[in-house]
Amino acid sequence: MIFRTLVSGSSGNAVLFSDDNTNILIDCGISAKRLIPLLCQAGISAGDLNCILVTHEHTDHCAGVGVLSRKFNIPVFASAGTWQGMNVGRINPENVVTFNNYDSFEVGGIVVTPFKIPHDANMPNGYVIETHEKKYAVATDMGYVTKGVAEILKGCHSVILEANYDKEMLEKGSYPYALKKRIAGNLGHLCNTDTAKFASFLFKNGTEKIILGHLSEENNTPDTAYNTVLQIIKSDGVDLKESSLSVAPRYEISINIG
Ligand SMILES: [Zn+2]
Ligand SMILES: [Zn+2]
Repeated sequence: MIFRTLVSGSSGNAVLFSDDNTNILIDCGISAKRLIPLLCQAGISAGDLNCILVTHEHTDHCAGVGVLSRKFNIPVFASAGTWQGMNVGRINPENVVTFNNYDSFEVGGIVVTPFKIPHDANMPNGYVIETHEKKYAVATDMGYVTKGVAEILKGCHSVILEANYDKEMLEKGSYPYALKKRIAGNLGHLCNTDTAKFASFLFKNGTEKIILGHLSEENNTPDTAYNTVLQIIKSDGVDLKESSLSVAPRYEISINIG
């Protein structure tokens, strides 16, 4: 079982889920050319992908989707709003699949449930991916953790969770005021302390592994994210194994939490 990030951050996002029969790519925010060797490194060839699930139309999530789909004839799943906003060129109509949030669908025996996330895009969503035994989830690009997100992620075995920025680094950083406000707003991104509180909730409710992802290059560092989250989780009384929490590298594949 594979569940890991291939790249992570505003420079590009992609997550790979794979079991014996099914290979699912969630987002392709880098060129197909750059993605293919990373997939290979994870033991998967692009031609073996069953589908691409897109979370939303921001370039760091869909830059390579069009080329990848055309080159390898891969179906692309996205919400109607994401399709409307996504600039991916012409995709074979047979490979254009639209879903409604919370309506589960099946890909090669794997059950996928898209869920709504609060972010400044047309109709953004995260995904829960379910095998017979376990549930996995991708939840990045969220201004805050809604009740709906908490509910659907509760009990997931492994979660790729956004830890975008450190509050103080954002406040003191060089971003213009409007951008700071956007990032910290309810439709922006998740800060380390909010991520930590939610991670603590997840660990208390059965989650075994979390990868912190989509870190800001400017307003966070892997050490800051990791240490902030770890400290809050520990002070919350969660007894954490060392392998349970990790940080997604920006340009390389992460550890496997499948
Ligand atoms: Zn993003
Ligand atoms: Zn976004």
